[in-house]
Amino acid sequence: CGIFAYLNYLTPKSRQEVLDLLVTGLKRLEYRGYDSTGVAIDSPDNKNIVMVKRTGKVKVLEEAIQEHFSGGDYSEPVLTHIGIAHTRWATHGVPCERNSHPHRSDDGNGFVVVHNGIITNYNDVKTFLAKRGYEFESDTDTEVFAKLVHHLWKTHPTYSFRELVEQAILQVEGAFAIAVKSKHFPGECVASRRSSPLLVGIKTKTRLATDHIPILYGKDDKKQNLDQEIRPHGQSRELPVLPRSESTSEFMPLEEKEV
Ligand code: GLU
Repeated sequence: CGIFAYLNYLTPKSRQEVLDLLVTGLKRLEYRGYDSTGVAIDSPDNKNIVMVKRTGKVKVLEEAIQEHFSGGDYSEPVLTHIGIAHTRWATHGVPCERNSHPHRSDDGNGFVVVHNGIITNYNDVKTFLAKRGYEFESDTDTEVFAKLVHHLWKTHPTYSFRELVEQAILQVEGAFAIAVKSKHFPGECVASRRSSPLLVGIKTKTRLATDHIPILYGKDDKKQNLDQEIRPHGQSRELPVLPRSESTSEFMPLEEKEV
């Protein structure tokens, strides 16, 4: 029912501070109503993504976070750091920890996703991915998105993180806002929306694409000239348009078409 992402660039912050901001963000979204909550941040060695999820109130998550992320490793300040967070109002799958967001692409947490709204063709996407060996651990529509991005990443190794999410977005139907974080693209977060609200607040020269699918795009601090980085959606490098079936709801396998 609400997603919140925080990208830290300006001054070093500890993971604990980032988590505090995530919890504050979730509290601001509490008025929307929800049944469960969750967060994801990078592990102290940056080699993994750590997630904590709880059913119930943000307060319960806050306590779990204090327990889980105590200790010196989490209080060390880091510059580029991204956390994503979620309050869930279950639409697909009962409220429980297993169905709580963030959802992940694989057991290595390659891509993790928070999602508000509904992916209406999730069953088609799920069938497509299941045929390719993906196993699902939740009953949500959201999980297919994480796994779809992972599948695209495996099959299109030259795609940037943004391109991967863009291509995944083209494959899903429904109204939603989504934020994705990845172990394979440290320091980056991609967010997008379709017919759902998504607000972006910028306190630094963050990369922002102002096309019809607003995408918040952050990388490391080295490249400060954003205009060189970001082109309007329509002018971006030509990407192969992935085929969709017009006549049926069948999900068209990406790699079975020439792209
Ligand atoms: N459809 C997703 C789910 O059931 C997201 C629901 C929401 O907006 O919180 O998990």
